[in-house]
Amino acid sequence: MNLSSLGFFRSLRKDNQQFAVIGLGRFGRSVCSTLHNFGYEVLATDIDEKRVSEALTEGIVGHALQLDSTEPGALKEAGIFEFDTVIVAIGNYVQESIITTLNVKEAGVPHVVAKASSEVHRKLLRRVGADHVVFPEYEAGCALARTLTKPAILDRFDLDPDNSIVEVIVPDEFHGKTITELQLRNRYGLNLLAVSQDGKFQINPDSTKRLERGSAMVVIGCNKDINRLPI
Ligand code: ATP
Repeated sequence: MNLSSLGFFRSLRKDNQQFAVIGLGRFGRSVCSTLHNFGYEVLATDIDEKRVSEALTEGIVGHALQLDSTEPGALKEAGIFEFDTVIVAIGNYVQESIITTLNVKEAGVPHVVAKASSEVHRKLLRRVGADHVVFPEYEAGCALARTLTKPAILDRFDLDPDNSIVEVIVPDEFHGKTITELQLRNRYGLNLLAVSQDGKFQINPDSTKRLERGSAMVVIGCNKDINRLPI
């Protein structure tokens, strides 16, 4: 998740209760079941009748239809163009994914999220008008590499390519020091936003607070400075 997607997420209608999901692979099914569990109306479609009936039998969606989403007429008849948000969850069939995305954008669907399976696929989806593209395999790979190389960073929110907010395990050499003594801003260029205490976060902690080994802290700053932390 990063702020470059902010425009898209802000444009989503808060009162939107309905979503259409095209493609019932693993990704599409997880989108359907999560939305359905949250109480939203979900219309799922797939070209494969078996996947459609499985989705209905397993109760991961309220409504499901068999259709070929490369056919604009089939999408229109199913009412897909009336949805505010459509998720094109066809990752492994690039041609079908591109044509489907083009179909829903040309018909005026305001918010189209599409799944990419490669960098070229991602670019093509943007070219045909996808408002937001997710590339889960790539994103999961980046996250894993980060965790493997910086295990002390528990969570990360990328503000832009250069700046982040991170939750990090308090370094050993910070143990027992107060926030004033640590001088994070002067020494590292970082601002401390919160520290954890008994599993709960204390926001804007007092500068006299002592940090403890094994607890976590949340800092904001540029990635170069975050990388200088002794973790
Ligand atoms: P995986 O399941 O491997 O994680 P995925 O979630 O990206 O990957 P895909 O393998 O891309 O899923 O399959 C998505 C679904 O899209 C399949 O169930 C497939 O039947 C469906 N599909 C493919 N072409 C069309 C089409 N033209 N119209 C509607 N559904 C389609």
